[in-house]
Amino acid sequence: MDRKASLKKLPSVERVLEDERIAPRINMMSRRGITRIVRGRIESYREGIVSGGIEAGVDSALILESIAGAAARDIESMVSDRQRRVINATGVILHTNLGRAVLDSATVSAVLVAASGYTDLEMDIESGSRTDRSRRVTALLRAITGCGGALVVNNNAAAVLLAVDTFARDGAVAVSRGELVEIGGSFRLPEILARAAGRVIEVGTTNRTHLGDYERAIDEGATLLLKVHTSNYRVVGYTDEVLLAALAELGKKRNIPVMYDQGSGILYPVESEGLEGEESILPVLDTGVDIVSFSADKVLGGPQAGILLGETDLVGKMRDNHMSRALRIDKMTLAGLEQVLVHYWNGEFDRIPALRMILEDQGALVARTRGAAKKLEGEAHNGFGIEVIEGETSIGGGSFPINPLRTALLQITLTAGGSQRLERELRRLDPPVLVRIRGDSVFVDFRTVHADEEEMLIENLAAAMRNVKERE
Ligand SMILES: *Cc1c(COP(=O)(O)O)cnc(C)c1O
Repeated sequence: MDRKASLKKLPSVERVLEDERIAPRINMMSRRGITRIVRGRIESYREGIVSGGIEAGVDSALILESIAGAAARDIESMVSDRQRRVINATGVILHTNLGRAVLDSATVSAVLVAASGYTDLEMDIESGSRTDRSRRVTALLRAITGCGGALVVNNNAAAVLLAVDTFARDGAVAVSRGELVEIGGSFRLPEILARAAGRVIEVGTTNRTHLGDYERAIDEGATLLLKVHTSNYRVVGYTDEVLLAALAELGKKRNIPVMYDQGSGILYPVESEGLEGEESILPVLDTGVDIVSFSADKVLGGPQAGILLGETDLVGKMRDNHMSRALRIDKMTLAGLEQVLVHYWNGEFDRIPALRMILEDQGALVARTRGAAKKLEGEAHNGFGIEVIEGETSIGGGSFPINPLRTALLQITLTAGGSQRLERELRRLDPPVLVRIRGDSVFVDFRTVHADEEEMLIENLAAAMRNVKERE
């Protein structure tokens, strides 16, 4: 039978909407969307016939069945495809694709309180008058850092945008060519600068920028000096700090604000734990830089937000910028951030999951991994190699790019090609398990696995290994 005849057998939209798989799902809110889904499914069936991908000549009942079935699955996925829990066994602590920092139970409770009822978000209950929604986080940030001013916005990209818009919209921002980078795929500095600044003055070269380069930029009209922490090259640590201090001094001399986009938000002095290669916020502030920005959901370990610290008057100017309204942080995030900052204020660092994972003792990690390896011994008889080895992991979120963490890994070795099958099998489980893979091995890092997920992870590993074996 020819294609033309097949095309004539395509059902009308109305006919599919009447189908018993579709009709019961139609209500006041879903009619328009379901009509669109059905039309799309009929259209792709038509394209299938035309392109030859679908065999011509199928009978009309089967065509209707196929189209209505596909549309019914689309409709069902609206409900079933939800953000769901996964087990992160990659060891990457601040995995942007997996939601970055995990929050502790006190912080989650604070979010729940804010979400489930009315709160005194913008009201001073004592006087009954209107007040600032971020007063608590700014008070905590000022107390913790000793800064005169603090401001929170939606994320760190927004913080950079707001600062540049405030200080360089009617002027120019000077930034090193070596720092005009893309960070983590979602933050392209040059594009943000081009949007917010009147002019972008690129200074220096890709690999070297001197103080004199910034001086010339000021002569050319720069109204903001911006330094960005990059993860792309090795000129970090002491060298950077000297430059930052010199830059801060230059800014003071010429009366131009100097901003540092630090990015990862390290309030805890990780240097003292032997984690080098990145500055924490307090020493950065000591350089005399005027404004520092960073994310709240990276090493800081909070919910998604961007934090700006600096002198009272500079921060005040950013707060008064009308743009800040468009970058405003929501009440649930604020409630969570308040609690995380209280943990810092109280010195309760071990209550913050991201920090706890970064600082987890290697010996304890080896013990957890060995425990899991023992429970999986049964599977080893099925031809899987199971070993506990030392390895490395990255913290993630663009932090500590060149200084990976030493970690313990459960290495599961399979025959050639088997590691990809096992990795896929693990992703298909409920909850999905994410691991690292290299060559013929899958690597499981317990550093990013919460204690109460461990049992489930081990069960899922065993199940996935059995599935792979059965399908061989
Ligand atoms: C991560 C990062 C950003 C982007 O921060 P978001 O909170 O993801 O918007 C900007 N600058 C630096 C240096 C970063 O590390």
